[in-house]
Amino acid sequence: MSDAHDPASTSTPADDEFEPVDVFGEAEEMDLRPGADNCYKCTSCDTSCPVAEVDDDFPGPKFQGPEQWRLKRKEDEGVDDSIMSCSNCMRCDNACPSSVPLSQMHNTARGEYVDEQMDKLSREYIRNRILSNYGLLARLGSKVPRLTNFAMSLGVTKKFNEKVLGITSEREFPAFAEQTFRSWWDERGGAKVESEEKRVAYFHGDYSNFNTPEVAKAMVRVFESFGYEIIVPEQRCSGTPMFANGMLDDARRAAKFNVRTFSDLVDDGYDIICTCTSCSMALRQEYPELFDFEGTAEVAASTYEAVEYLRIYEDLQGAVAESDVEYPDLAYHAPCHARNQGLDRQAVELFRDLDGVEVEDVGESCSGISGTYGWKEEKYDTSMKIGEEMFEHMEHASGSDGMTECPTCAMQMEHGTGYEIHHPMQLLEKALV
Ligand code: SF4
Ligand code: SF4
Repeated sequence: MSDAHDPASTSTPADDEFEPVDVFGEAEEMDLRPGADNCYKCTSCDTSCPVAEVDDDFPGPKFQGPEQWRLKRKEDEGVDDSIMSCSNCMRCDNACPSSVPLSQMHNTARGEYVDEQMDKLSREYIRNRILSNYGLLARLGSKVPRLTNFAMSLGVTKKFNEKVLGITSEREFPAFAEQTFRSWWDERGGAKVESEEKRVAYFHGDYSNFNTPEVAKAMVRVFESFGYEIIVPEQRCSGTPMFANGMLDDARRAAKFNVRTFSDLVDDGYDIICTCTSCSMALRQEYPELFDFEGTAEVAASTYEAVEYLRIYEDLQGAVAESDVEYPDLAYHAPCHARNQGLDRQAVELFRDLDGVEVEDVGESCSGISGTYGWKEEKYDTSMKIGEEMFEHMEHASGSDGMTECPTCAMQMEHGTGYEIHHPMQLLEKALV
């Protein structure tokens, strides 16, 4: 089992390559036996599951993984529909002392459920397909950002989305930036630094491109200040929302494109960096668990979260310690997917030495939004119940702004507290550039 499932692991993908458990082998049918056999029913995974904690109807990760397989085999049943209530937060992976590849099982079972059992004309399927393919909508919407932002903020649009599609009207649709990151990058003329030795390929994902280009720009300025040559290749969505909604064919297409593009760059000496911890999680763990395109393992082994990368290869701690900044104090939330990569403490440890700002960890709870999960009308209340603990801790922290690496956790933090939410790269930019 890979260290990516080991909560205690702080090793990097460069140190030890990801080795996915071959849960499904060559068999055409889903076969969860190799993973299921390791389960000794300790229920640690169930007690770590944020959905099971607030939703009595959700049977929990042990059922979704090992037990589902046994049921399915014995009684020749399909996948239980409760698999669609798993938010894919992946906290259960970290909780299992027996290295049962729970999220791999869930992702595959969910894919099978959607493929074989879900009505493709149902509102749920259509809504989930739309949410999973956010990048396609964003590409259209960001062509006329002001008009789209205005239209999406109207009460009538929200009501329509809720009644017709089942997308909650409780949340504010994230605004599109006036200029996408890629357009800014092209206008700027691309990289300002050339280097033979220090080269990174940026996986920005859809959200940093269409909604928060300030995060991507901050990354560019910080990395260039350390002498890195940056390349921004063509790319598709990481697949994170597709995995979570069981849209594995969509995810496969996106992953295939990304692996082909980025593995060529790895061959040319580039490392891959992400500013979203769910994107880095997808490239590092979900791709090799679910797909076997040529280059998948190389991409997984060369992918890093951006701050993590600088902490490994530069004296980031030293640079930060010598700097000071005027910045609001921050309540920091570690995304579940950062936790899975052993990155949950890095922002707090890094900024501890930075004068002028206090960054306070608000604890281990899940934010509750889990990407598209909290956007579903029927999941909104569950999502907010899960988020309550984080909201409370944020309000008790000294900062009145927040910080996180995950764009949807940021949405939930803002939604639950009204705080402005920053990305660690933005604070690094302010401190170092
Ligand atoms: S991925 Fe998260 S929501 Fe799904 S079963 Fe595991 S802990 Fe629960
Ligand atoms: S934590 Fe692992 S061993 Fe324990 S019940 Fe869950 S899957 Fe089984």
